[in-house]
Amino acid sequence: MIPSGIDVAGMVKRIREDILHIDIPIQHALQNINLYLFLGEYPALIDTGPYHPLLEGIIVEALRFAGIEGLAFIYLTHSHIDHSGMAARMRRMTGAKVATHRYERPRVEHVDERLREEYACYSSMSARMGFPEEIASQIFNLASVWISLSEPCPVDIRLGGGERVRAGDHELEVVHTPGHTAGHVCYYLAREGLLFSGDHLMRTITPNPELYCPPWRGNMTGLTQFLDSLRLLEDYDVRHAYPGHGRAVHKVQKRIEMNLVHHERRLAKTREAVDKGCRTVWEVALRLFPQVRNKPPDVDHFLALKEALGHLLILEEQGAVQRGNEGELWVFTTT
Ligand SMILES: [Zn+2]
Ligand SMILES: [Zn+2]
Repeated sequence: MIPSGIDVAGMVKRIREDILHIDIPIQHALQNINLYLFLGEYPALIDTGPYHPLLEGIIVEALRFAGIEGLAFIYLTHSHIDHSGMAARMRRMTGAKVATHRYERPRVEHVDERLREEYACYSSMSARMGFPEEIASQIFNLASVWISLSEPCPVDIRLGGGERVRAGDHELEVVHTPGHTAGHVCYYLAREGLLFSGDHLMRTITPNPELYCPPWRGNMTGLTQFLDSLRLLEDYDVRHAYPGHGRAVHKVQKRIEMNLVHHERRLAKTREAVDKGCRTVWEVALRLFPQVRNKPPDVDHFLALKEALGHLLILEEQGAVQRGNEGELWVFTTT
């Protein structure tokens, strides 16, 4: 099932005696995907990675390496395919019940329909954001690629945040941390001060805020929620955070503070960009992320656009910029 030469044992590390970290390298800027396996009475996996036959083989081997035949639970941090694409497959193979926040359920259960709808909606917003058609059309056609890396998965347990769930011989508190997606959750092992933080808190990068399309509860961006969700973690005694990508975070409160400062600076840069004459979301995106300017169209262009929009909308809410219309186009000016 796995080509020879792949060292699965080398991908499995031990965080605690009964908690394993499966570290899967990927050819992407994110560099790796982290899954966490709890051993004990209720064997459980946090996140599954995307659907891919090679990855499936790695997870099966990792379970065998850990001496596990089935799983009681699969806990998803959120519905992005790099975390949930393999959930249906693993559910069938291991008999696990799949748990995710109720807001993530539609995208987990109907990933193909939802991604097509979302990408069509993004595409329809391009003109408003001044996003060039030739870039938008290439990027928004990628929905079919994401769909091929996932499979719709029935959700057995809908989480809401605040409840305690079983993993191995532990109880984890579900912490609702919206922003990167509406139903992103972290799983907190209070007794040990460990937080399994998905894409919410990572060691070297900050996650992209969700672009809600169509707007969700009146919001287009998840950025405000994301910043609130970061502040929420300041109330937890987290000693180590284990993210969905990258290495563990050990100075957790410092990392939270750094992320908050980072967004303050980006807000200031966004305002400065508008001040200096960037009028559209895309013009601001290019000012904030000049490195995308000369790249062939890829997902980084869209991530830059979402970041710019998120910060512009916060500034609009604060009254620091205002949004007008020129035909279809949104035009921003400082107040
Ligand atoms: Zn994500
Ligand atoms: Zn991710």
